[in-house]
Amino acid sequence: MTTDSPFAAELAWPDYLARVRDAKSPILIPLGSMEQHGHHMPLHVDVLLPTEFARRVALEIGGLVAPPFCYGYKSQQKCGGGNHMPGTVSLEGATLVNALRDVLKEFARHGSREFAIINGHFENSWFITEAVDLALRELRWDGITDVKVVVLSYWDFVTEETIARLYPDGFPGWAVEHGGVLETSLMLALHPQLVSLERAVDHAPASFPPYDVYPVKPEWTPASGTLSSPKHASKEKGRILLDVCTEGIAKALRDEFQLSAAARRSAAA
Ligand code: ZN
Ligand code: MN
Repeated sequence: MTTDSPFAAELAWPDYLARVRDAKSPILIPLGSMEQHGHHMPLHVDVLLPTEFARRVALEIGGLVAPPFCYGYKSQQKCGGGNHMPGTVSLEGATLVNALRDVLKEFARHGSREFAIINGHFENSWFITEAVDLALRELRWDGITDVKVVVLSYWDFVTEETIARLYPDGFPGWAVEHGGVLETSLMLALHPQLVSLERAVDHAPASFPPYDVYPVKPEWTPASGTLSSPKHASKEKGRILLDVCTEGIAKALRDEFQLSAAARRSAAA
């Protein structure tokens, strides 16, 4: 069995404790969803992608990846196709907030003081903020005042320069990237056996009015389930995205967390 896996759950407890005690290793928590991603990709895209970013960054900075959250907050029509779609299985907001709060407090109980939430599903965003706020408040009540949590979504690390390079015909915006070029390219680079590009539906980016309606109007969501076309996705684009986001996230965590990269590597060794 391995004693230096980047995945916390692959360690035996003494090896785990040696990493988290004295706040040696930041804990990276991937958050995803179970959500339809069109005809050409599986339901766990939002889990697989942030987990891989977390793994790569953890190896670079000497962090430890917590088991990912495989369910997320309810899919919304204008950024995830909507919660009415088959295959989309979601948590209520309060459930997600409570679960993430519990997990943060548990790692803190073992000694972790630095956390990064690596989000892969847009709809989770404010519930992450709430969970972090409640966890920090309750830890303060227990006298633990030195916990720091970095919250990020991996796509926010795609630089303007990369956007211009990857979307020569114009960028449709992250909201309608659901199942589009970004996610499909990353999946082609990481898990090509899970992508069937020949089943992808080519259509213009979805356009919505500047408001939401509940219950949702299913006719607003393109029949494919994707919100823009994955036609121009490629493995090469996926590799570029992997590099730029991994580099950006690793730099952000090095900047925010106390130890230098060198110190982290020796702490992890
Ligand atoms: Zn997604
Ligand atoms: Mn999503």
